[in-house]
Amino acid sequence: MGGKLAVFGGKPVRDSFLPYGSQWISKEDKKAVERVLSSPYLTTGPAVASFERKTAAYTGAAYAVSFSSGTAALHAACFTAGIGKGDEVITSPLTFAASANCILYCGGTPVFADVDPRTYLITPESIEAAVTERTKAVIPVDFTGQPADYEAIRKVADKYNLLIIEDAAHALGASYRAQKVGALSDMTMFSFHPVKPVTTGEGGIITTNDENWYKTLLQFRTHGITKHAADFIQVRAPWEYEMQFLGFNYRMTDLQAALGESQLDRLDTFTSMREAYADYYNNAFRTVKGVTIPYQELGRRSSWHLYILKLDEEMIDRRKEIFEALTAENIGVNVHYMPVYEQPYYQKNGFDQVSCPTAEKLYQQFLTLPLFPAMDQQDLDDVIEAVRKVLDYYRDGAGS
Ligand SMILES: *Cc1c(COP(=O)(O)O)cnc(C)c1O
Repeated sequence: MGGKLAVFGGKPVRDSFLPYGSQWISKEDKKAVERVLSSPYLTTGPAVASFERKTAAYTGAAYAVSFSSGTAALHAACFTAGIGKGDEVITSPLTFAASANCILYCGGTPVFADVDPRTYLITPESIEAAVTERTKAVIPVDFTGQPADYEAIRKVADKYNLLIIEDAAHALGASYRAQKVGALSDMTMFSFHPVKPVTTGEGGIITTNDENWYKTLLQFRTHGITKHAADFIQVRAPWEYEMQFLGFNYRMTDLQAALGESQLDRLDTFTSMREAYADYYNNAFRTVKGVTIPYQELGRRSSWHLYILKLDEEMIDRRKEIFEALTAENIGVNVHYMPVYEQPYYQKNGFDQVSCPTAEKLYQQFLTLPLFPAMDQQDLDDVIEAVRKVLDYYRDGAGS
């Protein structure tokens, strides 16, 4: 096996490039979107309401409110939680920028709490250590699709009177102690970006059990406007509406919602496929020297949004070469994520003294491999062959 690495001019393991993630659109998905195109509503109409009901039912939450993106949904959740100037919100550094940006949108201050070296998830202990008098909420991230420890996080939240806004962008379909993600926290956000568990192109949703928050979320996504006379501050003419606070146009379209609802029908199939592929990778990589396979806590079922191999410490110096070599083999590797506070914007705005040593170390070691339901057996075997080929070359100090 192996031969000369493609990066040195050898024949790549694959002829075509395999991305790290991708959507899977079926005939039914296309029909669902076409039906909306022939209907009176293009934007927020019956398909949005139907998609929201179906998502709420799937997760076991009482309410769901859709948005134009997961980021918009997080913004809405922070607004609804009452985050404002002077408030601190604790989140994970190992995440996409949006998990922290949503706090800044509301004038609050993100506080980064370090992650567990095995699960890569924010821990109840690191959250508690970061609590101050100004802490209002915590945004745990279900990184890679594995839910954080919500029972323990709830205890900390109750002790200090904090709201839990769960960033479950990776975790639709996952569960914690046999309970689906979506009703574990005060508000839960899912993203429908094309690489996420199901897609609407762009889109996001908040699930919650609280009726008042539900109403605020609805109003926030449409400029802070309500058309319900019962909610008006003043008596009004029948054509009038009220803008009661500063909201945004963050609405999802019916085109997107129809796609999302059709995709939801296949979510459980997608999740089982991701799980089976992750098992297949685990079996292949468990005995490979120089890497550690993802660790799963008992009682948690991951949605396997990402499959991350962790390079051993002595391989850290070679990661860039390994990354480039795998890319040359036509394997779409990726790295998730640089700690958010290391981004230039955060460095320039007061976060240059922040240090989360575990997250920083992990970021040096991570390598995300392709994992998505539309992969086939050949794709999986190509990834395994390429990883073995490239690691065999770089592991023993070869090429140095
Ligand atoms: C994708 C993602 C988001 C943002 O979702 P968008 O729909 O892309 O706006 C937020 N947090 C995490 C962890 C994500 O992966």
